Amino acid sequence: MEHGKCRHMDPAVFFPNDGIGVQVAQRICAECPVRSACLEYALANRVDHGVWGGTSERERRRILRQRRSARVQLSAN
Ligand code: SF4
Repeated sequence: MEHGKCRHMDPAVFFPNDGIGVQVAQRICAECPVRSACLEYALANRVDHGVWGGTSERERRRILRQRRSARVQLSAN
């Protein structure tokens, strides 16, 4: 967070109420030097709300589902 592009911004920007707000936050995240670390933090901590690492809540749920599915496939082989 110390190195995030959002560090001096209003946190409300990253907790939008609509799709336009999500896109605004994602544009900021797209230029953030710690985007990957931010996303992994949100995934590891199951952060449900807001835009983290350039992803919406729905996108993080999808990533978690894909990772779970990949782990299941690996363990089945
Ligand atoms: S990726 Fe987005 S939410 Fe995460 S630190 Fe960077 S600007 Fe902030």
